[in-house]
Amino acid sequence: MFITLEGMDGSGKTTVIQRLKKDLEAQGYSVVLTREPGGLEICEKIRTILLDKDDNKMESWTETLLFIAARKEHLEKLIKPELEKGNIVISDRFLDSTTAYQGGARNLGVDRIQSLQEEVLGDCLPNLTLYFKLSFEEAEKRISKRLQDKNRLDEETQLFKEKVKEAFEKIVIQNPERVKVVDASLDENGVYESSIKIIREELSK
Ligand code: ATP
Ligand code: C5P
Ligand code: MG
Repeated sequence: MFITLEGMDGSGKTTVIQRLKKDLEAQGYSVVLTREPGGLEICEKIRTILLDKDDNKMESWTETLLFIAARKEHLEKLIKPELEKGNIVISDRFLDSTTAYQGGARNLGVDRIQSLQEEVLGDCLPNLTLYFKLSFEEAEKRISKRLQDKNRLDEETQLFKEKVKEAFEKIVIQNPERVKVVDASLDENGVYESSIKIIREELSK
């Protein structure tokens, strides 16, 4: 099973992912954690280019195509082979982030970027996506408390973040079977409990 975690910066995706792995492994599943952009050496190199603070004025299409290029490589060389071995793959971000950030916030069009990705990626879409829903005020508070903030696209404005959120919410409405909402305003334990409950339901289908 292929599971993805999605949501705006600071919504708690990376915090919960290790615990999900531990819990599923305790139930006897083999779990591979990965992330985007990244997950493979070449994709981590593309991540470094994309998140370079000193050079983040890249043209929107260039940025989008780099995200999708890294994703194609990640999908073919890591995600599909792991799924074929019967493992559960959980990715910290996947295609919906590009639909929301580049399609929505960078104004390339949610539907257009979604169709482009489906064309490039083929039919290997996530079986389940958890969308971590959080107000950007709370996300901002959490980010400002995060101890070692990493290299990130920090030119993002409030308007940009509003557009990211709006696009994610459109994706939720358009994909009700695949995308399930987690109330990310709960405490860490609450977020974990809600997430694992949805995953267990999916595994029992
Ligand atoms: P990004 O997309 O920027 O990588 P993220 O979704 O991975 O963000 P995290 O890094 O997991 O978010 O969490 C952001 C900050 O919020 C961290 O400092 C983390 O400790 C804290 N945090 C995570 N989950 C919760 C929670 N449920 N309640 C309060 N604080 C939380
Ligand atoms: O989730 P993570 O912290 O790994 O994401 C790295 C950065 O890349 C974040 O600041 C996020 O806003 C940005 N990003 C983006 N477009 C995407 C995916 C992530 O701008 N499609
Ligand atoms: Mg993270």
